[in-house]
Amino acid sequence: MAAPHPQDWLRVTPAGLFCEPGGFFIDPTRAVDRAVISHGHSDHARPGHAHVLATRETLAIMTARMGEGRAGATQQALRCGDALDVNGVRVWLRPAGHVLGSAQVCMEWRGSRAVVSGDYKRQADPTATGFEVEPCDLFVTEATFALPVFRHPPPEAEMARLLRSVALFPERTHVVGCYSLGKCQRLIAMLRQAGWDRPIHLHGAHQALCRTYEELGVPLGPLRPATVAKKDELKGAIVLAPPGAVADRWARRLAEPVVAVASGWMRVRQRAKQGGVELPLVISDHADWDELLATCTEVQAPEVWVTHGREDALIHALAQRGIKGRALHLVGLGEEEEDIPAEEPAA
Ligand SMILES: [Zn+2]
Ligand SMILES: [Zn+2]
Repeated sequence: MAAPHPQDWLRVTPAGLFCEPGGFFIDPTRAVDRAVISHGHSDHARPGHAHVLATRETLAIMTARMGEGRAGATQQALRCGDALDVNGVRVWLRPAGHVLGSAQVCMEWRGSRAVVSGDYKRQADPTATGFEVEPCDLFVTEATFALPVFRHPPPEAEMARLLRSVALFPERTHVVGCYSLGKCQRLIAMLRQAGWDRPIHLHGAHQALCRTYEELGVPLGPLRPATVAKKDELKGAIVLAPPGAVADRWARRLAEPVVAVASGWMRVRQRAKQGGVELPLVISDHADWDELLATCTEVQAPEVWVTHGREDALIHALAQRGIKGRALHLVGLGEEEEDIPAEEPAA
């Protein structure tokens, strides 16, 4: 018997992707009975599900953000590589390289295999296990940066630009706008790799998840709250804050701040300028154009579904490679983290 087409068992519903024989949703946008969650960003991980299956790290991040009890009445941790049988559907997770704990949700039913990647990137990240290619019949991808203009430079080079600026302006405070889950901890870990061993100062919004990362075994070195530090203490310091705070009243109390933002959107000069960003750093936790195309080719799926983002350009480019694309227009994804333009405050 021929394997069924993935669309016969993986359905697009108003609440998101639903695996019919398994009876579970993947990253549902409203509270459901059974949810499999790819990672902790709030557009993928919503509160109020009865049962949540995810990596141990994602469960811990969800609990830290939502509070005990709201991150799934019951939680089940699944290690990457371990497989589970859910009503005859084989379910397993593979690293997505996006943030700590992020995983692709892999499913196989009657010989038909689908992989829902959530958000992902291919660049190295000291705080997230690297993306692993899982060959499949259907690959579900994001398309946040799916335009040829989006090519992310090596992150080490962007970090070196930041450190050069710090060396050049030792009297000023460098305040770097970044999202609180993933980007903040990645920047800290990259600064440590680059040899920055001085304390890094944090906006209040960034402190809790840094603690969670450390509890999960990601060392971040000396961290200090930025709010209690004196202006003089912050001369020559690096402060990490939400993108909405860096060009705001909050940053004005710092010593002649150099405003930086770390985001894939910083590739668009106009965006940096509008946001009052003096030092745009193109550091993204999402795949760029080349990474999206390479990944869609490497998984060898004849069909790719695109959840959200610039789906038109990606689907056109996939067609040229003989891959059938379909835009899902999933509502509710791309509302957090880098999916929103940097000049808008974080939700
Ligand atoms: Zn994400
Ligand atoms: Zn997302």
